[in-house]
Amino acid sequence: MQRIQGIHHITAVAGDPQRNLTFYHEVLGQRLVKTTVNFDDPGTYHFYFADQIGTPGTVMTFFPWRHMKRGGRGNGEVGAVAYAIPPASVGYWRDRLAKAQVAVREARRFDAPALIFEDPDGMSLELVTAEEKRTIRFWDRGPVPERHALRGFHSAALTIDSLARLEPLLVGVMGYERLKAEGECVRFRAASDDIGLYLDVIERPDAPTAQFGAGSVHHIAFRTVDDAEQLEYRQAVENAGCGVSPVRDRQYFHSIYFREPNGVLFEVATDAPGFLVDEPVETLGTALKLPPWYESQRTAIAARLPQITIPTFEPQSGER
Ligand code: ZN
Repeated sequence: MQRIQGIHHITAVAGDPQRNLTFYHEVLGQRLVKTTVNFDDPGTYHFYFADQIGTPGTVMTFFPWRHMKRGGRGNGEVGAVAYAIPPASVGYWRDRLAKAQVAVREARRFDAPALIFEDPDGMSLELVTAEEKRTIRFWDRGPVPERHALRGFHSAALTIDSLARLEPLLVGVMGYERLKAEGECVRFRAASDDIGLYLDVIERPDAPTAQFGAGSVHHIAFRTVDDAEQLEYRQAVENAGCGVSPVRDRQYFHSIYFREPNGVLFEVATDAPGFLVDEPVETLGTALKLPPWYESQRTAIAARLPQITIPTFEPQSGER
């Protein structure tokens, strides 16, 4: 069993589907790589936003529930999600977000300049500058030029009651390395040298518990190389005293779920088979995809889903 390579995907809850789609696809330039339904509730969409092909470590997913009440930030959740941007792109993103009427605050994250803002449902997002080269697949039909495109996840920040209860799992089982601390935030690093490497853990023993709702992260998934290793992780997590789900087929990856001791829902997901398993790269995300076990109900499922329009853009030359 190798150490965890990094973040695989992050799944959150949104309100209105079109507003969510427009923000991630058009404002942030994250390609809608899969339009499907919540496999546990097929009356709801499941959107996947990522780079051109859905490279693990770039994948942000949403269950949009139109009438969902907003959540409130607190302990026992992923409180913020950060994408990496090149250091020279801060001005571009400050202007782009301002044009989209997004209120932006500038801050530093462990010495790296960062832009802090919220998505339309109040989810905390950050763009953190990072020098490292990251192997994303640039979406050349998106609205953002290549030199400014988001470089996948930089990090996610967990807000929890007790780091002492998380650390044996994070370090001992998942193989994260404790890197450095700043104030109440401790940064951990995964094993690869690529996308989604960092977890920032913010310990606030006296903070209230998060209220789940629109704008809340539902779970964070970590990368495992294949099905065999996933089973080893399953056993190790169980041995560490966490209740863990059976392996579930999520069509684009296989998943196990467990709650870390502070209540944050973790998933370990395989890189394969990926998002090209049921449609070609050219048309990724444009048609409603259903897993085989829902195909016979396609007409009824499609009729219940809200209508959406997927914005399209002129091809990018890389400079604009
Ligand atoms: Zn997931």
